[in-house]
Order: sequence, then structure tokens, then C-alpha cells
Amino acid sequence: MKFEEKKQDNKYFFENKIWPLLKDFLYPKRCVSCGKLDTFLCEKCEKEIILVSDKKCLFCGRILDKRLCDKCRKEFRVKNGFAYCYYREGPVKDIVWNLKFRGKKELAEVVAKKIKFPEDLKGYVLVPVPLDKIRFRERGYNQSFLIAKHLAFASNLEMKDSLRKESRKPQMALKKRDRQKNLEGAYFVIGEVPKKVILVDDVLTTGSTIKECVKVLKKAGAREVVVVVFARD
Ligand SMILES: [Zn+2]
Ligand SMILES: [Zn+2]
Repeated sequence: MKFEEKKQDNKYFFENKIWPLLKDFLYPKRCVSCGKLDTFLCEKCEKEIILVSDKKCLFCGRILDKRLCDKCRKEFRVKNGFAYCYYREGPVKDIVWNLKFRGKKELAEVVAKKIKFPEDLKGYVLVPVPLDKIRFRERGYNQSFLIAKHLAFASNLEMKDSLRKESRKPQMALKKRDRQKNLEGAYFVIGEVPKKVILVDDVLTTGSTIKECVKVLKKAGAREVVVVVFARD
């Protein structure tokens, strides 16, 4: 065996056999909310999560017999939508914070397992909401991309990283009416866009991000867009 090959082999062995064991030892799994060992989210904390009713509009919160009212369906140009839980309640904030800012990428799988598709979406392609370059470089990963990847694996659907974002002011620092303006023209597509898209994001706040993403996807040829998010405001 050549030296280079041997080196590659050792690297593989370390990354796949030794590192997973070492990592569990050095950084034991803990519930992100209460610190309980051996789980990323313990049963007790999971029970505190407030779930979103399937009889409420995803965007405006109006009570209906479905997940999207006609007004929002038109305004956001989406076919259907799903949110699992509320962001401000219980341990959800801890989950999102750790996934986004503390490098706990494993939580993407926990989050993906909670997301249900609002209808049969055979033939649809999962597309994550992108991060801008600066954020991506800081974080090293896009949490929505990771969630979409786990969803694709679990549902046997394709995934395509079709969207990109230019750097803009952080949305959190802006008032609601300035958020839409700040995002105008920020998103663009790369490559051919799937005809049927499941747009994936971790958190939905005002919906400005979703609205802009759908706009550029549709302009680039997408016919139907369904939105799925883990948590909503
Ligand atoms: Zn807990
Ligand atoms: Zn609505």
C-alpha cells in the first residue's frame, strides 16, 4: 500500500470508527433544554412543546378547517403548508438556538422527524431556504439544508439546493414593514428549478423570507410550492 493510500485509510478509520465513539465520550448527548444525559431532547421537555393546530392558517393564524386560508394562499403563492410547533414556547427556542448558533447539527434530524407533509407530495423536490455567504461562512452549515437532507432521506424524495441569497441586513433588526423591502432581490436561483417544490425552513416569523423565495422559484419555473417549517412565531 502506498503511503498516501495508507494515510487515507487511517483517516477513514478515525472518522468513521474512532471519532464517533470518542465524540460520545468527550461530548455526551444531552437534552438541549434541561441537560438530561443520553438524548438531544428528553421526553419531559418534548411534552412541553406547544404544537400548531392543523386548523389554523400557517401565515395569518386564522382559524379554519385547513392549514392555509385562501387569502394567504394567494398572497404567498403556495399550495399548502405545515408548521410543527410554536417558536416562543417551551424548549423549542433551545432547540433552534443550539441548531443554529451552537453547532449542534445533530438536532437537524430531531427537527426533521417532527415535520409532516400536509399532503401526499410524491414527485416534489425539497429545496432549503438558503443562508447568505457571510452567515454560511460564520456557521459552516445551513441548518435548513441539513433539515431538508434528513427529510429527503426519510421520505425518499429528491433534494435540490436551488436557492442562494445575497447578504442583507439581519431581518431580526428590522421592523415588520421593512423586512420585505430588505429582502427584495436578495434571493436568486442556480441551475434548473424543480417544477414541484417543498420549501424547507427552520423557523417562520413574518413570512417575508418564504414570500421572496416562492417569488423567485416561481419566476424560475416552479409551478407548485408547499412550505414546511419546524416552528412558527
Ligand atoms: Zn429535557
Ligand atoms: Zn391566512
